[in-house]
Amino acid sequence: MVSSVKGTFDLFYPDIKKYLLMEECARKIFSLYGFSEIRTPILEHTELFSRSVGDETDIVKKEMYTFLDKKGRSLTLRPENTAPVIRAIIEHKLYESPRHSRLYYIGPQFRYERPQKGRYRQFHQIGIEIINDPFPLIDFEGILIAKELLNSLGILEVEVKINSVGCKKCRQNFISILKDYLNKFKGDLCSDCNERIERNTLRVLDCKVASCQKVIENSPVIIDYICDECKEHFSKVTQFLNDFEIPFKITPRLVRGLDYYTKTVFEMTSFKLGSQDAIVGGGRYDGLISSLGGPDIPSFGWALGMERLSLLMEDSPLNDNLLYLAWMGEECLKFAMECASYLRSKGVEVVLEGSLRSLKNSLKRAERFQANYSLIIGEDEVKSELLTLKNMRNGEQIALKLNEIPNFILNGE
Ligand SMILES: [Zn+2]
Ligand SMILES: [Zn+2]
Repeated sequence: MVSSVKGTFDLFYPDIKKYLLMEECARKIFSLYGFSEIRTPILEHTELFSRSVGDETDIVKKEMYTFLDKKGRSLTLRPENTAPVIRAIIEHKLYESPRHSRLYYIGPQFRYERPQKGRYRQFHQIGIEIINDPFPLIDFEGILIAKELLNSLGILEVEVKINSVGCKKCRQNFISILKDYLNKFKGDLCSDCNERIERNTLRVLDCKVASCQKVIENSPVIIDYICDECKEHFSKVTQFLNDFEIPFKITPRLVRGLDYYTKTVFEMTSFKLGSQDAIVGGGRYDGLISSLGGPDIPSFGWALGMERLSLLMEDSPLNDNLLYLAWMGEECLKFAMECASYLRSKGVEVVLEGSLRSLKNSLKRAERFQANYSLIIGEDEVKSELLTLKNMRNGEQIALKLNEIPNFILNGE
């Protein structure tokens, strides 16, 4: 037997229902905000990620599934979807059309990480990208959409953590101040952080090593050093959040792992997952499009981890109405087939038994299908057209005419 690849998993009933519900809610909410879907290929040129995500990040250095194809081209299974979406926006000049300025995606991403609970090598994300809108209102609405999506899935206890990482103009100044500070504590920092000080200074702030954390706790914070424009942008975003009574926590050392962020960064965490695990993460990245060869236009986006989200969702969120339909004798089969076809046309989910079985056997089959209802058609039913519907959850039976069944199952009437 060949097993699945380490860190990947198969999705099937009942877990697949959670995924379908996440996707359905996401599509509904995104369209209310004027978004349309984009589907980019899973394969991209490796260069796309080294240029956007950044050569010095863990993603590009250690975690990408990169290989040479038969012609020797370096290709990578996408580790995230922002860079591919931005690549598509540039390639098709979508930035010229406001209709394409709000895009969302749903799909698998790939990172070679140590698998653990809620973290896989093939994982799934839902995300949005809003381009060409530099305004604080966009940051606010972006956060609002994420919150509405979580709420619609029954996840109400989320904390919004927010920070500003400044812009091209003001960040360099902060980085040199942070460098000076960190250089004083080189001996206390882990070897990774020692490397990061020179090449990727901000990333030190993400380090979870205890001795590094102590140094980080007292480090200067970027929000004290951002320029007036960044300050005003940030204060407007937080003002909107206050106005709409969305609780948030300014988290001065939140920088996010990726190099391309500017101004607003945010995360949404749940107490239930532990403090380290963000369900949603994102922010503004005003320099990304130009750094990938496009025009100098701003963008904002976030991504949500579907596996982590599924851990927070209740089981079987979708209300099944599966009905198992069996027939007692060849002479009943045609009527049974007609019943199945009628019920399906009215929205009832029907499994029609394929072979002739005993009554006892049929009821067992209904249980094994995990059907909510069973309907057994024998000679009497064909004659009287009065059918006995059995509720498989509580054993109750009720005699109904065929045309009464859909309303009973779907609306409980
Ligand atoms: Zn600035
Ligand atoms: Zn460290």
